[in-house]
Amino acid sequence: MRARQSAPGGPEFDLRCCWDGCMILDLFRLTNRVALVTGANRGLGQAMALGLAEAGADIACVSRSGDDGEIRQAVEALGRRFLGLTCDLGQPQQRAGLVAKVVDALGQVDILVNNAGSGARHPPEDYPESEWRNVLEVHLTAAFDLSQQAAPFMFQRGRGKIVNIGSVMSYEGGLNIPAYAAAKHGIAGLTKALAVAWSGKGVNVNCIAPGYFETNLSTSLKHHPVRGQQILDRIPCGRWGQPDELRGLVVFLASDAANYMHGSIVPIDGGWLSR
Ligand code: NAP
Repeated sequence: MRARQSAPGGPEFDLRCCWDGCMILDLFRLTNRVALVTGANRGLGQAMALGLAEAGADIACVSRSGDDGEIRQAVEALGRRFLGLTCDLGQPQQRAGLVAKVVDALGQVDILVNNAGSGARHPPEDYPESEWRNVLEVHLTAAFDLSQQAAPFMFQRGRGKIVNIGSVMSYEGGLNIPAYAAAKHGIAGLTKALAVAWSGKGVNVNCIAPGYFETNLSTSLKHHPVRGQQILDRIPCGRWGQPDELRGLVVFLASDAANYMHGSIVPIDGGWLSR
């Protein structure tokens, strides 16, 4: 039997949640959900896609190379469906209809993780315009485009979760990464703008801001003879992050446990931003 208790002036809540000990974990389950994760074939995207699949979701992965054998095998070994799509997100024509393809193949789209990205380092005064345009296109414009593509399907069902991948560079300028820092500040702003517009339609839009994690993208920095040690010395917990340490946060933000979170930028950085 359900026990209800009202805090004075507050909403009623169901005490059974606290008594049987299982309902809170049920909130994190993603059974029968479909997640589109861009850049899920390696690095942070792969780890997050695997976490979402472990929580029950089917996975669609987008990458330029289509080299997704490893994540496909891992997702299918969990008994989930996997769809691999090849697309350069820096090319607007290639992005057209991408979310509809996922819906055609997997029936719906419940979760969109805008993760794919790359970036080069040049001093701002020498930064090539083509590189600037590509970084902004892939990290920011593509995230907006895919969110726009996903929105009608999410509105129709009255629910959806969009998780953008920002960075500690959503707060800082970094060194010789003007386009990346601009794009990551932009994705934080986009997260808030979409959250304000879509929260009333049952769509949660939030952003994860990772610190320094060991992936292909960061290898040259980690092994740089000077910068590698400087970064390590500045991370309060004393080590770089491992990609699978993002799984819990992305599953949380993609799940019903985060239904009241809208427009949050959540750092996961070993303490970097607290310093
Ligand atoms: P990564 O290992 O290099 O993986 C990047 C992924 O994005 C790959 O799957 C890549 O696949 C895909 N990708 C890149 N450009 C693409 C494009 N134009 N179109 C489609 N797919 C593309 O990098 P990562 O470290 O996992 O980075 C993932 C995200 O986390 C990025 O947004 C990055 O800014 C962010 N982040 C990373 C760190 C870190 O320390 N690693 C910190 C903060 C934020 P293909 O090469 O096959 O296209």
